[in-house]
Amino acid sequence: MQWVLKVRIDILSLFPGYFQGPFDVSMLMKAREKGLIEIHHTDIRDFSGNKHRRVDDRPFGGGPGMVLRVEPVVKAIRSVRRPVSHVVCLSPQGSVLSAAKCEELAQKEHLILLCGHYEGIDERALDIEVDEEISIGDYVLTNGCVAAIVLVDAVSRFIPGVIGHPDAVREDSFQEGIFDAPHYTRPEIFEGLTVPAVLCGGNHSEIRKWRKQEALNKTGRVRPELIDKEKSSESLTNY
Ligand code: SAM
Repeated sequence: MQWVLKVRIDILSLFPGYFQGPFDVSMLMKAREKGLIEIHHTDIRDFSGNKHRRVDDRPFGGGPGMVLRVEPVVKAIRSVRRPVSHVVCLSPQGSVLSAAKCEELAQKEHLILLCGHYEGIDERALDIEVDEEISIGDYVLTNGCVAAIVLVDAVSRFIPGVIGHPDAVREDSFQEGIFDAPHYTRPEIFEGLTVPAVLCGGNHSEIRKWRKQEALNKTGRVRPELIDKEKSSESLTNY
């Protein structure tokens, strides 16, 4: 695996103000303070080319809504593009974001995230400048900013040093194809509900077994298709 020392992320959107807050708290703030991630914002309207800062126009062929014009988008991307850049367009038509994709993106030196709006972006901007389209799920948001926040958050967890304990990421849901195990902390009894005895017994091999089984049970109940996928994989065969 090829890890870089710092990931630079340029977010291109119509609403740079959207990002005030999410990147200024908790792990992302710490990651920025430690110099592990550098996040920059570009307002696509700065490249509108007109005094009204308009970046949309009516769709060819008719239909409802407006389309984000090709020139401002292409210019905005080129204003931050470097030879190492990887350009992602947040779109409901992209491949759905996964843990594996987040880990892959965390190894890029420079990510450019393009956030759409209106009915979408003139397709030619995607043809010319975008490496891949990524969706955060099978539903449609009003714009791509929330999707970019989700992507930055999920990717940052794989950047070495962002999460204090590297094992925490390895044991998270989806890392072995199934969910994480349930967690408990003090008190040992709450409103009559007790912590499973095995977790308090100190037998680490039993604890490992119990956690794996609980993770399998919940995954099977909630996301059976993940179990089917996992059945063919080595981790389950070895269990
Ligand atoms: N007309 C488009 C379609 O049906 O495919 C939807 C456009 S949506 C209203 C406006 C913008 O929101 C998109 O260009 C994209 O950047 C963002 N967006 C919406 N849903 C998204 C999703 N599920 N994942 C990532 N980005 C999304």
